[in-house]
Amino acid sequence: MNLLDELNEPQRQACLQTDGPVLVLAGAGSGKTRTLAYRIAYLIHQKGVHPSEILAFTFTNKAAREMKNRIDSLVGPDSRFMWVGTFHSVAVRILRENIDRLGYDDRFVVYDTDDTKSLIRDIVRELRWDEKEWPAGLFQTTISRAKNRFLSPSEWEDHSFYGERVQEVYSRYQKRLKALNALDFDDLIFQSVLLLQDHAEVRSRYQARFKHVLVDEYQDTNLAQYRLVRHLVGERGNLCAVGDDDQSIYGWRGADMRNILEFQRDYAGAAIVRLEQNYRSTQVILDAANAVVRNNRERLGKDLWTDKEPGQSVRLYRAPDEESEAWYAAEVIHEAIRQGKRLSDCAVLYRTNAQSRAFEMAMSRAGISYRLVGGKRFYERKEVKDVMAYLRVVFNPADDLSLLRVINYPRRGIGDVAQRRLREYASAQQIPLAEALARADRIEGLSAQARRASSELSELLRRFEESAGQSLAERVRNIAEVSGIMLLLRQERTREADDRLENIGELISEAKRFEEEQGTADLGEFLGWVALVSDWDETNEDGGGVWLMTVHSAKGLEFPLVIVAGLEEGVFPHSRSLNEGTVEEERRLMYVALTRAQDELYLTYAETRTMLGRTNANPMSRFIREIPDSLLSMGERLAAADRATAAMSHHIDGLAPGQRVRHPRFGWGTIVALRGEGDDTEVTIAFPGGGVRAFMAKYAQLVGEESGLSGA
Ligand code: ATP
Ligand code: MG
Repeated sequence: MNLLDELNEPQRQACLQTDGPVLVLAGAGSGKTRTLAYRIAYLIHQKGVHPSEILAFTFTNKAAREMKNRIDSLVGPDSRFMWVGTFHSVAVRILRENIDRLGYDDRFVVYDTDDTKSLIRDIVRELRWDEKEWPAGLFQTTISRAKNRFLSPSEWEDHSFYGERVQEVYSRYQKRLKALNALDFDDLIFQSVLLLQDHAEVRSRYQARFKHVLVDEYQDTNLAQYRLVRHLVGERGNLCAVGDDDQSIYGWRGADMRNILEFQRDYAGAAIVRLEQNYRSTQVILDAANAVVRNNRERLGKDLWTDKEPGQSVRLYRAPDEESEAWYAAEVIHEAIRQGKRLSDCAVLYRTNAQSRAFEMAMSRAGISYRLVGGKRFYERKEVKDVMAYLRVVFNPADDLSLLRVINYPRRGIGDVAQRRLREYASAQQIPLAEALARADRIEGLSAQARRASSELSELLRRFEESAGQSLAERVRNIAEVSGIMLLLRQERTREADDRLENIGELISEAKRFEEEQGTADLGEFLGWVALVSDWDETNEDGGGVWLMTVHSAKGLEFPLVIVAGLEEGVFPHSRSLNEGTVEEERRLMYVALTRAQDELYLTYAETRTMLGRTNANPMSRFIREIPDSLLSMGERLAAADRATAAMSHHIDGLAPGQRVRHPRFGWGTIVALRGEGDDTEVTIAFPGGGVRAFMAKYAQLVGEESGLSGA
């Protein structure tokens, strides 16, 4: 069977055209991503291209994984030689191989947004500016924008009072990063571009290596990313970019639609392929999405058709408030499950992360497990960062920021005064803090205790460094134990501490998974990888569950059932867009949201909403008005709805040993014991996975078999 038989004619064209630049410009669900995957398979299978000669950019790590899996099933194990990843992960690889040319050490670390913020805060303090007037976050955003526009500190063009201050901070910030042998996220791209631009031999090496470059979601590349692609593609010009101008939703991060609009000028002789058939959604869903996006002026203009059946109308639900809105979502999902859908077929999409809380609550109380994409992410949790700090210092002893975290947690007798002395010494001698620690017994002005503690810590770190032969998971476990972090948590004996211990356990498992999947126990690779997944699309992939995520995170994905929530003026479209005149970008975001749905689409809005402690009544979103009435029907809450609300507070009385109950996090289990009374009742549950856990019944949000939402 021919591989390309599974594509339609224009999709096939985009695969067959393997010489020179190709741009696939098409609406949502028309098979752009699918075409990319088949093109890669075709190159390898039919054109004899080796996987190592292919480089593909995806927009998220999740998309990269999916792409890898698809390719893997099409071409087998050789697929591992191919580079598939986000712009950031590809940049990390390029820099690891060459960064010495830019005066960094190849053991550089990647700082996440928290790290960089505290670095900027230090700088502001150093300059003796008022931190309230000059908050670190402000500089962080401005510096990030500058880098996305590929402007170095010296090229900074704003010479206002404010602009000069930004320039001052920006330039100190870059120097500090370099001294720490660290890069921030934007630097990954920025420095890669510098490297390729200024070092012809590096550039030609990569150009010779990658005979084919592919880019998904091209409409969302910013100038720096655009240049990275340009340098890698070179004169041969075998670039296949796919994108949709109607889905450009990262203008705020410097994405530039001109990259797509001017493709033909930048890549001479480019072939343009348009796809018009949508394979994802019903006609009704498609009509609704088209009707909304048609109101934008800045667009190339295209319409999609499908030969799927018309499908059911788009259900619109008006809720009295955001809690009710969330309950409605829980009901819709519950009903869908009854009719045979899986939890993972359903997604709730909202405009901002803060909206997730109500849905999390409703889902857990209704006994529906969910997966939160974004929000408080795993790698942002304190205990995880604590352990990571040790790993980072072990890998890169020049990483002073991480070392400070290590010195301060667990507390080990190196107080503020001693720390200041150590830092002074380090900066006078121009050595990393770790080195000062090692020389503590020679530093004046340190107490005997501080000396001893410093030497001990230094010795401890040295031992960790020597453990390089062990497996990664072993090293992580060892560090978490010997550092005393695990011990402290065990001594705490609170539920919170238990959760934290579980998170550390999860980090160890993650190290193991990394080692298995990536085939390396290299600590540097692991750290680079973690830094990337943590800032992007960390999702809890194990176990099924309804998807809760922002529309931005849903880009490129599809679900049989989608609920788009919070459709109110000021929420979606976001109030910021109303002030800044960027409603068209919000409308594209709405188009992205609507086109994620395959079969069923629900739109909800709340008449009143409490945000930041204030209750507002916002009018219904203009985007709902833009959908013709003929496509809409009104949704209603089920009669049983309030029973569900009642069900969530029922427990304490009804519990008995032997009863089957569902815990929002651990799933179904059987009650094995009850202790105490009333509000103090403690319930012990055995879960089939093997665990036996005790909870305060009052807080456990248990749902029994006969309660919850079933049996309307
Ligand atoms: P988006 O703009 O949202 O990223 P897309 O253009 O990348 O969408 P895909 O995700 O590649 O679209 O495809 C949408 C769905 O349609 C997928 O389930 C895909 O497998 C299916 N599909 C695409 N082309 C075909 C085809 N020729 N035959 C059968 N199914 C197809
Ligand atoms: Mg896609």
